[in-house]
Amino acid sequence: MPAYYADLHIHIGTAAGRLVKVTASRDLTVERIIQFVPREKGLSILGLVDVSSPAVQADLQGLLAAGRLAEHPRGGLVSEQLLIIPGAELELVLPDRGAAHYLAYFPSLEACTEFSIAIRSYLTNPYLSTQNVALAPEAALELVESYQGFFTPAHAFTPHKGVLGCCVPDLAQAFPSFLPHILTLELGLSADTKMADTVSSLSQLTFLSSSDAHSLPKIGREYMRVNLVELSFEALRAALAREPGLNMVEANYGLAPLLGKYHRSFCSACGRIFAASLAAVTTCPDCSTGHLVLGVWDRLQQIADQSSRSPSHRPPYYYQVPLEMLPGIGPKTREKLIQRVGPEKYILNESQPEELREAVGEKVVQTILRARQGQYELVPGGGGYYGRVKMV
Ligand SMILES: [Zn+2]
Ligand SMILES: [Zn+2]
Repeated sequence: MPAYYADLHIHIGTAAGRLVKVTASRDLTVERIIQFVPREKGLSILGLVDVSSPAVQADLQGLLAAGRLAEHPRGGLVSEQLLIIPGAELELVLPDRGAAHYLAYFPSLEACTEFSIAIRSYLTNPYLSTQNVALAPEAALELVESYQGFFTPAHAFTPHKGVLGCCVPDLAQAFPSFLPHILTLELGLSADTKMADTVSSLSQLTFLSSSDAHSLPKIGREYMRVNLVELSFEALRAALAREPGLNMVEANYGLAPLLGKYHRSFCSACGRIFAASLAAVTTCPDCSTGHLVLGVWDRLQQIADQSSRSPSHRPPYYYQVPLEMLPGIGPKTREKLIQRVGPEKYILNESQPEELREAVGEKVVQTILRARQGQYELVPGGGGYYGRVKMV
């Protein structure tokens, strides 16, 4: 049965000539994504999380009208080897606990469009990404389900709008009535399966590793390998829900958590990321300004209730360093590698040294091969700054 690669958290910079995500790059458009991702990233399943915007809906309508995409009878927008899942990222406030981001995925453009119309009176600007929606998380979940969608916490542990990172220590407190409806949880770049499996109440959830891409190169820095009987929304949903049958998530791929932007605590007054070897840091030891941005690792020390223990359904998690994070590989070298060798995923994990040598110099070849063998040191990220890779 075919294995597909899925990245379910991709933003849109502009659509139909309008700005959609202000912090995303302008050339992150539906058209560029469709052209670029299958060839350069080797991914087949893309969750677009700004289809709540009428501008993105218009672009997708155009592709459907032109016959470049088609509605699959069991959900999703498909072309030959591509499945697009229409989705939305929402910011929802839990009274007295704070705001967090959630993702909703829908079987059709129509369902996503109707959902976006239903939430319009609860938000400020329907054209923009990740709008604050004046609905309680449970009310939003119910609404998503009424349009046949499913709902998942986004980047769950981050101090910046992660429900477990900055709102509650336990999902049951955010979803007292609908907890069984939450089947998945997005890990975010600063966490992996091993870290998340220190919280026993998450053991029944399927962990999503997605890129939260705000530009084309960042698509596919995290993804999943899924076995599906067909490229459709229903097959993907069955895999994520671990329904009995052949559809299943086989593996998660992602950054080593140290490379994430919020891995360790960061004091914005001292400008300091607390290094990997220290114990959990919840207040800055050097100043008392209270400007600490809690790290995902540090947060998990607070909410963990067991040493890491993964349930038997948990697929393996493979670490990879994207080309753009490897020292000495700039955009030109990256482009040359992709043109001559193949998609980034292939370059990183499978390519032969001879193939690489035909495209780039020996130093870059060695960097890629040593990265594949884990011969590097990681400098942890925090407070919005990515971690770094140092070759050893
Ligand atoms: Zn978000
Ligand atoms: Zn996002």
